[in-house]
Amino acid sequence: MRPPTSSSDSLSFSKLSERVIFEFLVSRMRATLSQMADHLDIPTSTLSRVLSELEDRQMVARRTERSGRRGRPEVTFQVRIPSRKVVCQFDGSQVTAAIFDHELRCIGQQGEGLIRIDSPEDAARQVDKLLRILTEKTGVSRTDMSSLALSLNAVWTGRNTFSSSVLPWADQTVTPIFDKALGLPVELVVPFAPRAMAEYQALSVPFPDSMAHLLVDDGVSAHCIVRGRPLRGSSSLAGELGHVTITPDGPTCGCGRRGCLEAWCSGPALSRQLIEQLRRDRAGSSLEVEQLEESSPRRVIQRAWEAWQQGDEVVKNLMEPTFNRLAWALGAIINFMDPQQVTIGGYVLVNKPAWVERIRELSTQYILRGDKRSILIEPGRATREDELRVIAAWSAYPQMLETRAPNANPAAD
Ligand SMILES: [Zn+2]
Repeated sequence: MRPPTSSSDSLSFSKLSERVIFEFLVSRMRATLSQMADHLDIPTSTLSRVLSELEDRQMVARRTERSGRRGRPEVTFQVRIPSRKVVCQFDGSQVTAAIFDHELRCIGQQGEGLIRIDSPEDAARQVDKLLRILTEKTGVSRTDMSSLALSLNAVWTGRNTFSSSVLPWADQTVTPIFDKALGLPVELVVPFAPRAMAEYQALSVPFPDSMAHLLVDDGVSAHCIVRGRPLRGSSSLAGELGHVTITPDGPTCGCGRRGCLEAWCSGPALSRQLIEQLRRDRAGSSLEVEQLEESSPRRVIQRAWEAWQQGDEVVKNLMEPTFNRLAWALGAIINFMDPQQVTIGGYVLVNKPAWVERIRELSTQYILRGDKRSILIEPGRATREDELRVIAAWSAYPQMLETRAPNANPAAD
């Protein structure tokens, strides 16, 4: 790793090493010193110093394990959080909360489908309701928790601002509204690629050198993990495949532009197209449009999957071009990134093997030298709990949220 050479770099070399090391640990949850040295090209002396500092801040725990009676003891470093914490995550159409203890073991989890949230006050009320159920279920009261990490499906667009293509009410000013509604200190977390990190952890050992996760959910993205680190890009906007324009005059996207992949293929986009089509003409379909209008996009997609399996003509006509667009997306990721492995997830495709298979089949026409390379393409295996655990780990490290300030004068570098 090269130390920063420009004075405009916002992180010092020592902070950068710390971030790289912690990020690697979050991507694995636990690792040995030699695994870190191998993957990160950081001298063992620096690793030991940074790990001791992270231990002092109660963000890392050291464990010595002996393999067999005569084996040399092996030291493993594991991510932890200073105290018990509740994590609450908003996607566009679902809110989930889970309580983790200091060793990141899940004490309880609760989720709720959302149809429409109009304001941060509305969103805070949903979380309050969810917390009431969760505390009753687990016997852990709000006073037993140090804070609530509120994770929003959004991206940082600068040092202090962020925007969300799936949560129109969300911005950086919502924290006091949640504080007041919940009676608990709330910290806003905008984690980078938590789903891809959770998928990476769920892969079998040895971990691949590079992995991409195609996520088709309330949003669409393709984040890459290379040698245990997510690829952020210079503005933490890498992996936003969902906002690649595929039809310049297509439907309006939550990002404000038109014809993005996400505006065609996300759960809410598909749900909207299905309802519109059924309103125009419901011939050949068993679906009740009035029922779908009252359901969250997650529920609509589930109903569409069931109908598709029974040969529903309207759903088939909607899904065939969708498979082709997602196959194009899969080809694009592979051609751009050349990852060793691709996982596919998100509620639009999870537990729908025939849809994943169709996308995989169609993708061969888009993959460069597809017949000559072996890329493992598999359905994702991470659970919601895994994703929330990644967010909990991340929330312990506020520096992780800093983005590097854009270089004001690249020519001077
Ligand atoms: Zn967009």
